[in-house]
Amino acid sequence: MVGQILRLVDSVRKGLFIVGTALLIFIAARNSITWHMQKFWGASGDFWQQQWKNIYHLCGSSAFTLGVFGTTVFGFLVFWLSNAFLLLLDITGRPAALLRYKVQPDKNVPVPKESIRRAVQLVLFNQMVVGIPVAVVVNYVMRWRGCSVMPEDLPTFHWAVLELIICILTEEVCFYYSHRLLHHPRLYKYIHKRHHEWTAPIGIVSIYAHPVEHVLSNLIPPALGPLLLGSHLATAWLWFALALMSTTVAHCGYHFPFLPSPEAHDYHHLKFNQNYGVLGVMDRLHGTDNQFRASKAYQRHFLLLGFIPMAQQFPEQPSKSKSE
Ligand SMILES: [Zn+2]
Ligand SMILES: [Zn+2]
Repeated sequence: MVGQILRLVDSVRKGLFIVGTALLIFIAARNSITWHMQKFWGASGDFWQQQWKNIYHLCGSSAFTLGVFGTTVFGFLVFWLSNAFLLLLDITGRPAALLRYKVQPDKNVPVPKESIRRAVQLVLFNQMVVGIPVAVVVNYVMRWRGCSVMPEDLPTFHWAVLELIICILTEEVCFYYSHRLLHHPRLYKYIHKRHHEWTAPIGIVSIYAHPVEHVLSNLIPPALGPLLLGSHLATAWLWFALALMSTTVAHCGYHFPFLPSPEAHDYHHLKFNQNYGVLGVMDRLHGTDNQFRASKAYQRHFLLLGFIPMAQQFPEQPSKSKSE
């Protein structure tokens, strides 16, 4: 018990140190960073306002059509466009040069067509049959919360960035606990087992889940941030796109150069009881990353800034792993 408290205090201390350092660096660089970004935004702000105006008119200037069908179509496009290339790679195994970036090299090369067919079916079901009614409810609550869809109410650059950060943190906390709840031994086999059929996931598996899980873990945690903040729908779309692309990368099964590391969530699919969160902050606080931190996957868990695959930089050592 005392040991647990000490570990918690230690992780909070480390967490605060990291946040503090990041904050100091941000404050020091703030003027120059925001000056450049604001300049970029100022130059392109009119462009984005015009795009939003076009979308708004395309939906017949209706908040309902934009909020429900606009959001559904937008999420659908972001998801399938992000996954199109990955699916092609998974089905054909080409371009073969990219296979060396696989996190679990011997698994799913190529992915059986039947598994893909089943995954696509459930993903489409979740997006349409589950997603649209949830979008109706969320849209209703957003209107009640006073979230605007009007082109003239688009947020400033700084405000949008601040809202995105709060959305990321809200999702981290809510996803972590909803995901841990789904791993409860009494619940696991009824709901979350479906998502874990894939021990070596691929991109589209990010929303291959039981419909209850899809609502509880995939739709509510990302929707909470914009609801709490009363965000403009355009900011919510930006956040949803970021969240969809991030979960696609986390599940894609490849540790590609210049993309966020998928090692943590891939490890979750491999080991089941590690890394429940998205960023890893909550796992650090609760110690649910202890095995991961002692693993080879953890050594590989950083942004790859070159073309040498992780498996080559940090190779498995079979003799050592046998003695572990
Ligand atoms: Zn997953
Ligand atoms: Zn899980």
